Amino acid sequence: MGIISRLFGGKQQSDPNGDPEGLHVYVKCDKCGEKIHIRANRRTDVTQEYPDESSGSVLVLHKEILGSNCQNLMYVHLTLDPGYRIVESETERCTLITKEQFESN
Ligand SMILES: [Zn+2]
Repeated sequence: MGIISRLFGGKQQSDPNGDPEGLHVYVKCDKCGEKIHIRANRRTDVTQEYPDESSGSVLVLHKEILGSNCQNLMYVHLTLDPGYRIVESETERCTLITKEQFESN
């Protein structure tokens, strides 16, 4: 019975963290080493671009980031697949890190 109720009622509609619109990016400041968590919004921060008519659209996210330790203005440009996974990244004055790296020392 558990399986049936799951099929009909238990479909997961949001992220496990309860933030379906959130897109979480982690960077490390190249100047001072500060680790920064950026929460972008999938609907308002991600834009669709058409770099090449034949290959369709891609999702891109541009973010300017200012940490709290120093005045280093960081810049992240991400290309995302339809599942919002990062397929290409460009950064200035910072380095992309993983959630695990962010949470570790
Ligand atoms: Zn910094």
